[in-house]
Amino acid sequence: MAEFPLIENTKFEADDEYIPQPVVEPGPPVWMDGSLRIGIHTSISGSYLNALESARKLGANALQIFSASPRMWQTANVRIPASDVKAFRERRVELGLGPLVIHANYLINLAASQPMLRTRSIQAFHEELVRGRELGADFVVVHPGSRGESSVEQAIATIIESVKQAARRVPQEKMRILIENTAGMGTAVGSRLEEVAAIVRGLREIKAAVCLDTAHLFAAGYDIKSEIGLERAIETIDRIIGLENVPVFHVNDSKIPLGGRVDRHEHIGHGKIGAEAFERILRTARLGSTAPLGLAGRAFLLETPIDDPGDDRKNVAKLWELAGVEGPGAEKGFSMMTAGMKKQKKELEKKGKKFASSRHLPAVKSTKKK
Ligand SMILES: [Zn+2]
Ligand SMILES: [Zn+2]
Repeated sequence: MAEFPLIENTKFEADDEYIPQPVVEPGPPVWMDGSLRIGIHTSISGSYLNALESARKLGANALQIFSASPRMWQTANVRIPASDVKAFRERRVELGLGPLVIHANYLINLAASQPMLRTRSIQAFHEELVRGRELGADFVVVHPGSRGESSVEQAIATIIESVKQAARRVPQEKMRILIENTAGMGTAVGSRLEEVAAIVRGLREIKAAVCLDTAHLFAAGYDIKSEIGLERAIETIDRIIGLENVPVFHVNDSKIPLGGRVDRHEHIGHGKIGAEAFERILRTARLGSTAPLGLAGRAFLLETPIDDPGDDRKNVAKLWELAGVEGPGAEKGFSMMTAGMKKQKKELEKKGKKFASSRHLPAVKSTKKK
């Protein structure tokens, strides 16, 4: 064995001493580079990863998902297995998809005055936020809820308190809660932008912001179809909410005429809003994603129906076309609805049943013991 000579303790010049490097703060994510972000609600059927792959194959660069079944109460706290979380986060970075938006369960009613429903809603929304953090979501969108017999003021106070409770002990970091405007069906809160603004004001400490749905705006009576109507709507949004507080738009055409107060989405260009109006919306600099007039990272997300295979891909392509921007391109012939699913849908409809495409959900882990 070779022997090492003993040497004296080596002295270094002061200039050569190791200086601890300041930790580099990660810069803004790629999707905030000022580029146009167009996305679509994709299915987590089978695996969370499938949602990412679908978004890519449909030609989108942003996406929205449900974090669990949207029409069922979870019977226990639902956690996503750590290996799934890791794979999902890595693949998302690889594909450069963003923002990632989670739409909360439809059964959640944060305005509920009935204590059981309200507790259940707060718990379910809390779970949405936890899963949102796990998946690395940028936004979690939730509807304000239905007020039932309560007054609008009472309901708004209830919603604010419910959201605060749900958000307790969920460090949000960069993830933001977005309150979505509604069409105003029944006693739904949030069809007036003043109501949405009041909720967000009450949630200042947790930096809640707003998601605006074009079909809901129109059905609620905001005439975004005409040039002057859109201008007025933008002024109103900016005055009472602030355009900088609207990082996400749901872009849906409407089956329902102006002020019809019913929530029915239609393919872009086939509804009462029309292609011309969407072209205007997508080309208005103040609604865009480029500074100084626009907001970096702002996304336009589709929640249009899929009646036939390919409808999803066509609606994404339509948005890029109307915006006058070349998108990342779609995979030829891809659709979240396969020919087999279409057949199944037809058969169910013949029997008078509704087809639910989100029936098959990925494996999740229960943390609650019965
Ligand atoms: Zn929604
Ligand atoms: Zn809707």
